[in-house]
Amino acid sequence: MKESWKQMMFEPTDRYCWTLLSIVASFCETGSLGAQDSSTRPVSDLSAFVFVQGGDLPIMVSAPHGGKVGVPGVTERTGAGLATGPSGFFTGRDTGTEELAHAVSDAIKKRFGKSPFVVISKVHRKFMDPNRPADIAFEDPKMQPVYDHYHDSLSKYCREVTDRFQVGVLIDLHGQGSRADTVFRGTKNGLTVTHLRETFGEAAHHGSQSLFGLLSTRGWTVHPSPLDEKEQSGFTGGFIVQSYGSHKSLPIDAMQLEFGAEYRVASRRAKTAEDLADALADYAGQYLQIKAPPVSKTTATKSKSTANPPIILQFRTVDH
Ligand SMILES: [Zn+2]
Repeated sequence: MKESWKQMMFEPTDRYCWTLLSIVASFCETGSLGAQDSSTRPVSDLSAFVFVQGGDLPIMVSAPHGGKVGVPGVTERTGAGLATGPSGFFTGRDTGTEELAHAVSDAIKKRFGKSPFVVISKVHRKFMDPNRPADIAFEDPKMQPVYDHYHDSLSKYCREVTDRFQVGVLIDLHGQGSRADTVFRGTKNGLTVTHLRETFGEAAHHGSQSLFGLLSTRGWTVHPSPLDEKEQSGFTGGFIVQSYGSHKSLPIDAMQLEFGAEYRVASRRAKTAEDLADALADYAGQYLQIKAPPVSKTTATKSKSTANPPIILQFRTVDH
């Protein structure tokens, strides 16, 4: 059985990139760091703070950093005494990733005819960070059940996927502010997809038929490039993929996707989700023994998005 996240030692990682950046103008509707009022929602109502969805595919979607809501009676984290560098304290949202995760779930349902497993934080990162070990993820003990709900759900789904399908993939969605046109892969340089590599060979991780290879052929700018080079320092994979990846006890290959702003902007999210679902259909056919229904040429999406160029606004680094 997979060891509990509560038992896991966090491995220091070089996750942050504290450079200034640009984000897209259309993020303004969600770009404020002000948390929404949730004073009518008791902490006991965990569904108000974590979206959880069971599925019927060996595919899981996680998004820990896109949430916007506050938590009644809980003050914002201060980070006192915590490092602010890689894997440390940071409260900025991955703007648009909560919405993107729902879009990806919907696109997978449309592409496969079945739903993935989904865990999405609705809580603003100022109150809790699910992509950190518990001892630095929150400060108010009232957040413990919310944090536990996120990870207990992921743990439960990893076990369920293993029991039902004997293999699975976990896609952990994030936003980065270093390159708006790029999606970075984070697998600890292949560690968190150990089962995939050992079962199907290294090409399954970095070849043209790897998930990122399949995304590249759909017009995405991906990193590393070439895919067999080292992953970008700062985006090599955080606590979630390190906790649930197949280097642990279950055959769940975990990949962190760090989306640039162009992929998360409201006008592009549906296309991003559709591309990812279509690439996952190819991936599933080769590595998960799951055949998605064929797609007609008229609906297949193989070209780069023609969405208007983003309007560059401002300022803050978004990481994972
Ligand atoms: Zn993130």
